[in-house]
Amino acid sequence: MAALLRCSCEHEREIWGESWRVEEKHGWAFFDQQDWSETYAQRLTRCPACGRRLERKNLRAVTHPA
Ligand SMILES: [Zn+2]
Repeated sequence: MAALLRCSCEHEREIWGESWRVEEKHGWAFFDQQDWSETYAQRLTRCPACGRRLERKNLRAVTHPA
């Protein structure tokens, strides 16, 4: 599963999240999908805007208006 997420900081930085599952373990991997960014397409462990550690529970799903 993959989802466009957004950091809860004031910068509202968009982060691409992909969930993974290996046997009993599961988690999320986060990537930068902002093509203007220095860290574009790189795996992220922290929000590039605020430096906060990325965890799924701290990120909001982005819902674009139809
Ligand atoms: Zn942030």
